[in-house]
Amino acid sequence: MAKATPKITSKAKSKKSGKTKSVKKTDTKEIKSQKVDVPEAEQVIEITTEKKLIALYTLQQIDSQTDKIRIIRGELPLEVQDLEDEIAGLETRIDNYIKELELLKQSIAEKENSIIDSKALIKKYEDQQMNVRNNREYDSLSKEIEFQSLEMQLSEKRIKEFNFKCNAIKEDIENSQQILKERKDDLEIKKSELKDIITETEKEENELIKKSVENQKFIEDRLLTAYKRIRKNARNGLAVVQIERDACGGCFNKIPPQHQLDIRMNKKIIVCEYCGRILVDQDIVDIVNS
Ligand SMILES: [Zn+2]
Repeated sequence: MAKATPKITSKAKSKKSGKTKSVKKTDTKEIKSQKVDVPEAEQVIEITTEKKLIALYTLQQIDSQTDKIRIIRGELPLEVQDLEDEIAGLETRIDNYIKELELLKQSIAEKENSIIDSKALIKKYEDQQMNVRNNREYDSLSKEIEFQSLEMQLSEKRIKEFNFKCNAIKEDIENSQQILKERKDDLEIKKSELKDIITETEKEENELIKKSVENQKFIEDRLLTAYKRIRKNARNGLAVVQIERDACGGCFNKIPPQHQLDIRMNKKIIVCEYCGRILVDQDIVDIVNS
């Protein structure tokens, strides 16, 4: 069954290429030069399958490069995002410090007012002491004065504490603003770097996509669909893999020797029995890489 399909397509291909003379010429040339002992029909199959495998492996190499670019580009916005998050965090922290500072200033003002009140009360009590009728009244006023003096001392102590806190917060604000400025500068640099890289990689990516589309023309629809389906389902985007140390280069399961021999023959397209990826042998890899 597998043999029959490439036969049909090879016929269809030569029919198609018949339109352009140059293509037809090279095709026949290659077939002739390879024609030794093998019957012609089988030879045609062999060449086409090998060509298909070469085209598939080439396509895989191009698409893998595109994948790599996309991964690299995908990580860069994350760095920018991290910086933006850090900046937002710093801005919130500074806002909170400023609110805290406002509250402290209010508290200081309240305590200052209470000192003024105490002073006024002390003055009033002292005046009243001048006109007392007995010692009991005088002592009672003295106690009030003492109480207000203690209140004043307490307020002064609180004001000192609040001022101390204010200064600490002001220092925190200054430090945070310094860090914020540095992060904002970093962000500007990262953003422009990212912009450059995106422009650069997009150009590269578009070229690769163009190359990929061009290469897809050499692969019959049925195979191309299979390739795209396997690639989509594979986590690493690999649909065509080479045999590495007697194992599938995609899932690393061992390939039986007979299977390896079939793959090496390049007579039909063979997929890994575990992961379904298309397998190629070192010869195909060498041809594509050269
Ligand atoms: Zn596999």
